[in-house]
Amino acid sequence: MNIALIAHDKKKELMVQFCIAYCGILSKHSLCGTGTTAKLVSEATGLDVKRFLSGPQGGDQQIGARIAYNEIDLVLFFRDPITSVGHENDMMGILRLCDVHNVPIATNVATAEVLVHGLESGALAWRDIVNPKK
Ligand code: PGA
Repeated sequence: MNIALIAHDKKKELMVQFCIAYCGILSKHSLCGTGTTAKLVSEATGLDVKRFLSGPQGGDQQIGARIAYNEIDLVLFFRDPITSVGHENDMMGILRLCDVHNVPIATNVATAEVLVHGLESGALAWRDIVNPKK
């Protein structure tokens, strides 16, 4: 499955620790992420994470476009609910597109754990049936 990783600045360390903890599962999938998040995860885990632009530079929108094209199966978006960011609308766009296209998205680590366990158990395999890759 194709998994997108995004973390706001105050959640980046959490994302790195999460990816270290679940490296074994994540390594079986194709990963991509916004620029800084992808770089940090890649450096910390050795996982191959395709880098898009940094979120504020348009990386969120690049991922959003891929969601719309049915190229993303799961989004882990560790958002900071306390600090406002300039590209808030881009984040709302991702949430909206995930709802439009029925893409599972975790916006916090607790939900991310459930989804990653779902990946491992095959509970998310319906994505391959409902949205077969071309
Ligand atoms: P970043 O972008 O990984 O490039 O910092 C994340 C974000 O959307 O804020």
